[in-house]
Order: sequence, then C-alpha cells, then structure tokens
Amino acid sequence: MRYQTLAEAYEQLESVSSRLEKTKQLADFLQKVDDLPRVLLLLQGRVFMPGDEREIGVASQLAVKAIVVASGRTKTQVETSWKKTGDLGKAAAEVLQKKSQATLVSSHLTVQKVFDTLQKLASMEGQGTVDRKVKFIAELLSQASPVEARYVIRTVLQDLRAGVGNSTLRDALVWAYVLDPKYDGKKIDVDREKYNEVVEQVQAALDVSNDFGSVAELLKKQGLKGLEKTKMTVGTPLKVMLYQKSKGVADAFKTVGKPAAVEYKYDGFRMQIHKKKDVQIFTRRMENVTRQFPDVVKLVQDNVKAKECILDAEAVGLTKDGKYLPFQQMSQRIKRKYDIEKTAKELPVCVCVFDILEKDGEPLVQTPFQERHKIIEQTINVTTYIKPAEQLITDDEKEATAFYEKSLKAGNEGVMMKRLDSVYKPGSRVGFGVKVKPVMETLDCVIVGAEWGEGKRSKWLASFTLAIKDGDEFLEIGKMGTGIKEKPEEGLSFGEMTEMLKPLVIEEKGKGVKTKPKIVVEINYEEIQKSPTYASGYALRFPRLVRLREDRGPNDVADLKEVENLYKGQRGR
Ligand code: AMP
Repeated sequence: MRYQTLAEAYEQLESVSSRLEKTKQLADFLQKVDDLPRVLLLLQGRVFMPGDEREIGVASQLAVKAIVVASGRTKTQVETSWKKTGDLGKAAAEVLQKKSQATLVSSHLTVQKVFDTLQKLASMEGQGTVDRKVKFIAELLSQASPVEARYVIRTVLQDLRAGVGNSTLRDALVWAYVLDPKYDGKKIDVDREKYNEVVEQVQAALDVSNDFGSVAELLKKQGLKGLEKTKMTVGTPLKVMLYQKSKGVADAFKTVGKPAAVEYKYDGFRMQIHKKKDVQIFTRRMENVTRQFPDVVKLVQDNVKAKECILDAEAVGLTKDGKYLPFQQMSQRIKRKYDIEKTAKELPVCVCVFDILEKDGEPLVQTPFQERHKIIEQTINVTTYIKPAEQLITDDEKEATAFYEKSLKAGNEGVMMKRLDSVYKPGSRVGFGVKVKPVMETLDCVIVGAEWGEGKRSKWLASFTLAIKDGDEFLEIGKMGTGIKEKPEEGLSFGEMTEMLKPLVIEEKGKGVKTKPKIVVEINYEEIQKSPTYASGYALRFPRLVRLREDRGPNDVADLKEVENLYKGQRGR
C-alpha cells in the first residue's frame, strides 16, 4: 500500500473537527486498507505495540538535520519555516515542496517501508547512531511527497496531531466492518441500543488483546463472530480493571454486596506481571518496566508456582523494619535508567498480588473473584517480598471497619472492597470493587497549559491549566498554582514543573503556553462549581496539588461523567 494514501487520509482527518465526520472518513478509509496491522498502529501514531519498550528516540533537532540533508536547504531555512508554521512536519513539507518541483521523485514510499524504517530507528545504538538515524530519515524524506514528509516527520517525533483517539478508531472499526458500509451517522440514532452493544463488544475485545490490528482483521474476515477468537496473550499487556469510589464501608457494602472481600489498599505502584519463560512487568498504562525491577523479576521466578500466568499486583516500598513507604518515595524507581540494582537494594518493594487473570494456559477472567484469590494463595510462595493481598471476608460492618483501621495503621491508603463472585473485566470501572479511603476527594487532571510567573517567579511556569477528559477530548476545569514549592528540597518545585513542561509546549501566546497533555497531577479542591469559563462547564474551587501522578497518563484522568457525579454528590445537592 502506498504511504501517500495514508498521508492523505491523515490530512483529511486533520481537516475536520467533528468526531462523527472523522469516524465516517476513517471507516471509509479502513475499508480500502489491506495492511491493517501496520496502518492501525500508524493511525495511532506508533510503530510498536503497547507494552513494547522500544522507542523511535528521535528529537526535533535530529529531525531538522534529516530535513536539511533531504532538502538541500540550510538549517536556518528549515528553522525559519518551522517557526512560521509551528510544526516541523509542515516545515518539512514546505522545504521539500520547493525541491520536488525541481527534481521529480522517482520511486514511491510504501506503508511497509516507512513502518520498517521507523522501527529500525529504535534499534540503533552505539557510536554513529545520530548520523545513521539522520541518514535513514533523510532517505525516507527524499522519496516523499510533501504531504508524506509532513506525516513521516510527525510520526518520527511521535506528535501526529491527526486527532484520532482510541474511541474514534474503535467506532470506525464498527462502522467499517460491522455496520452497513454505507452507514451514516444519522441512522445510528435509530438503532442506538444495538449499536452500543456492538461498540461494547469491540471495546471488550480491544481491552483484552490491546491490538487494533488483530481486532480489525477478525472483524473484517468474520464480523462480530470473529471476536470470540480474541485472546489474552501472556507477554502482551491488557488493560487493568479499575475500581469505583465509595463514601465509606456501609456505602461500599451496598455496591459490592454482602459478604464481601475487604483488602488492604496498598499505596504503591500497580504492576501487571506476565510470567512465561521470562517475566515481564507492565504499568497500568501498559508500559514495560521490566528493566527497572530486576528484583521483582527474580521474586516471581523464584516464588510463583506456575509455568505461565498473569498477575495483577501492587508493589509497595518497604522500610528496613518492614513498614510500608508512601508511593512518592519509591516512585523514583520507575524512572531509573542507571544504578538500577543499587536502587533496588535501597528501596526494596513488596509485591502484593490481588488478582490473577490466567494460569498455565487457562484464562481466569470469568472465574469468580473468591476463587481467583484462592488460586493466588496456591500459586504464591509467601515471603517478605511477595504475597497475596491481605484479605478479610465478612458481612459485618464493624469487622470491616476494624480491618480498615488496621490497614490505615499499617501505612496503607485504606481498603478495597470487592464482590466475591465478580469476573475480571479489563479496562472497565465497574462496581466489582470499590475503594474506601479517608482522605478528601481528589481528582486526577492533566496539564494542558501554563503561564509564566511574575516577580521572583518570572523564570518559572507558575500557574497550570488543568483538564479532565471527555472521550478523546480534554476539557479545561481550572488553573492551579498552589501546592507547588519554590525550593526543590521542599517537594515538587516550580523549577521541576517548568523543566517537565517546556518540551511539551505546542503554542505560545503572551505569557501563556499550551502544552501537550502528558503530565498528570492529583488535585485536591474545596468544591466543584458550575462554570461557563472552562470548556468542561465546571471549575475547581481552590485547586491544590497533592502529587505528581508519574504512573498515570492522560487517558487515566477523571472524565466528565465522574466530575458530574462528584458535583451532584456534594453536600447540599
Ligand atoms: P485509585 O488509585 O485510588 O484509583 O485506587 C485503585 C488502585 O489501588 C489500583 O489501581 C491499584 O493500583 C491500587 N491497589 C492497592 N491495593 C489494591 C488491592 N488490594 N486491590 C486492588 N487495587 C489495589
């Protein structure tokens, strides 16, 4: 398949803003595609599957060099065009346009060629890497039409900007392969219920396999029936199940029924652990962090009695005398690139296993939770560093409350209360489990912009625009400048925030900047108010930073429904 076809599809998608129109265009396009696995990854702006730790690893300056080589222009010319358009992809198109008028491009780029080349970039290491990367990208660019160049560069920089989020992509699969190919948006209202059912089935398949390409192929060949073949694969991360909030033990029992399992809610780091010949560890965002946790790999190899399995667990930091450490203190282990073994010794973790999704070839997601917990107990050799989550089964509120207090005393965040007969539903926030925590409600938000400070704060970004999500969109909900410190030794500082956000800036206007939605923060607030000022329709009153959520990505932030519910649940409403 020619890359030009895909590049034109990106361009069209970028030119429309309505989600319905985007979905329709994508569906039309997908019907014509034969190289589904590659195209679907590229549509998501990636060349590796989720959980694959390889990265293209190309910064803007390297891309500039490649454009210079391919276009024969000077660095200044490329940078001038970049400044003017605010987009290095467009700049590449512009400078190459001038060239392609002079020399005719002889061969065509294919999707496969672009895809394979970008994958190769990730495996380059050692001396001369930069030059080789420049050469590979320049080679692609010299065969590219201007529109192809634009998207090659954006894909290389992992900044596609074509605006197709996962839910739009999922809907497009449904429109392209399940519904009448000529289906238009309006008809959907007629069979809304059936449509929603189909969307749910496709979403469930995506949550388990995490693979748009294979789900698309199954749908294309066999329709919905094909989805029965979607598989969980040991070694490929799947979306974790999420839990709802509750107002306390009594309220929690109402949601999960009686008796229920009450478990310690450890304040650590969620790990999805896959064991086959080797052990792989994924975060809740499906990033591969195996390399950062050699201690956990060994623990699992030594103490998990299964040839193959997938475990859901929380890794908590331990002090020398066996007490739990708050998350913040062990969070540095996630980002570590050097001295990994040394840090593992200094900051040991305990892996508390609270779920099991498959064991020795048998999927367990349909097995009732109570039985899954028993299987965990049979599978794990308990040591100080790995064990099943501490659990009590009870129908008694007093007993549950005592256990909750015991959990808090042990240094945990609270308890999780879980329905005994529940299945494991990847990716969903269903009421199979709820959390009971004493702290005031907090909200996870993503930073989408900031403003430079004044006076002694003028060298820093000092006020941060917070957003929640609604489908694939991020909607602003307030500005926050409290809870961040001036001195780094006191906690997360303005300086650190500024360094983190600077590379994410996509637009500057006066004192304000807009940033890519990447940094997630937990926010404490006094109240949620209705507000016409922000796109979400709500504003946080007195927002204050609780902590950086290094283990969360923009897709994990609170969504509009959650905010609406919190708003309605506030005192006096
Ligand atoms: P929250 O981060 O407040 O949404 O709470 C859910 C998180 O608590 C999960 O994603 C896990 O990382 C963590 N957690 C700690 N202990 C447990 C447990 N026993 N069962 C389930 N999740 C747990």
